[in-house]
Amino acid sequence: MLFSELGLLPALETAVAGEGYVEPTPIQARAIPHVLAGRDLLGLAQTGTGKTAAFALPILQRLANQPPAGRQRPIRCLVLTPTRELAAQIDESFSTYGKHLPLRSFVIFGGVGMDAQKQALRSGMDILVATPGRLLDLAGQGLVELKALEVFVLDEADRMLDMGFIHDVRKVIRLLPRHRQTLFFSATMPPEAQELADQLLKNPQTVAVVPSATTAERIDQEVYFVEKADKRALLVDVLRDAGMRRVLVFSRTKHGANRIAEHLVKAGIGAEAIHGNKSQNARERALAGFKAGKTRVLVATDIAARGIDIDDVTHVVNFDIPEVPETYVHRIGRTARAGAAGMALSFCEADERLDWRNIEKLTRQEIPIVEGHPYESRVPFTSSSSSSPRALASPRPQPQSQPQSHTHGRRDLPSTGGGAKRRRRRGGRGRGAPASA
Ligand code: AMP
Repeated sequence: MLFSELGLLPALETAVAGEGYVEPTPIQARAIPHVLAGRDLLGLAQTGTGKTAAFALPILQRLANQPPAGRQRPIRCLVLTPTRELAAQIDESFSTYGKHLPLRSFVIFGGVGMDAQKQALRSGMDILVATPGRLLDLAGQGLVELKALEVFVLDEADRMLDMGFIHDVRKVIRLLPRHRQTLFFSATMPPEAQELADQLLKNPQTVAVVPSATTAERIDQEVYFVEKADKRALLVDVLRDAGMRRVLVFSRTKHGANRIAEHLVKAGIGAEAIHGNKSQNARERALAGFKAGKTRVLVATDIAARGIDIDDVTHVVNFDIPEVPETYVHRIGRTARAGAAGMALSFCEADERLDWRNIEKLTRQEIPIVEGHPYESRVPFTSSSSSSPRALASPRPQPQSQPQSHTHGRRDLPSTGGGAKRRRRRGGRGRGAPASA
């Protein structure tokens, strides 16, 4: 499909072409017609799918087609998003896509002075992008008038809830007129998000985009079978490889993320954790340190890592194996951005072997197993735990000291530090810096 088939205004088509976009992404192709038709929308998509343009383009078109009466510029569209970074990115997208239209957008978020924001609210704008706290602050001062609102976008709803913004979101919703179009975006739909969606949306159209499993094909992947208690030590061990320059470690829980980061710091490795329990300032500091190359390892929960645009992540480490296989694809997609090569390492404990098997099924790949590492699992592979070396692929020569059974015996080898003793089933570059990074 081409953008020209979506029926967008020439001014928008020109702007999109100026960005080098040729085809709409799946979420754009499917969501834009509904939004143009004025329908409510439930969009299941995460950052990176092109979801911003999926709502920004049709919103700009609707606003441009019906200029407001009078000279005042009432707020006609409000986009609520959880973080400053996202708010700034969304505002920038509205400016880029709307640059040939006589519409004005503005962004407000906390942590910066209020004067410029107050001034902008007094002068008027068509589109306001905001984080909830600062919006409520300014609304409390009588500066945010939303009576003329036509479209409300709730972006990253699951993350908003994870960050504890539900009360603020509900307060913002109470300021909105009943008659409006609502677009609700979330990558996942936990019950709390579903409840909010039910409350906000009227006869919504649902558009869901799951990440393409083929993304995984560009990324060099390895799995380490390891017992739970040894995972942190294994992480320290693999991080002896200096080629792992910018490493994103995924932890299933917030508490786990803290513990991993603390362990790494004790081992002398620069690491920070980011998750929903951290303040926005703490997350931004951690992120800035990571982006600037000051912090080598960022440990994140799935939701906290989403929406963070970090180029040049050399390695992703799945410290826990995700239960939902698509999450694996989301995670490893954080490396190999912008066409660069990337590498993903996964630490799989005995209880996670079935989840691992499901990931291999989804990605239709047999992911090479790292053998001979100092923390190999001693838990036997049973047929129900599936992902045994034997179950995976053609026979391979066993290292001499390797037990000839499904059991991976713990090798009392000193750490090799650079993976020299590691053996993998199939060829690859090893864990070092990706070839094109
Ligand atoms: P988003 O999911 O909205 O954060 O978008 C992710 C990235 O994809 C942004 O850098 C956009 O500029 C880019 N993008 C959005 N739509 C398209 C498209 N149709 N073709 C190519 N790139 C796009």
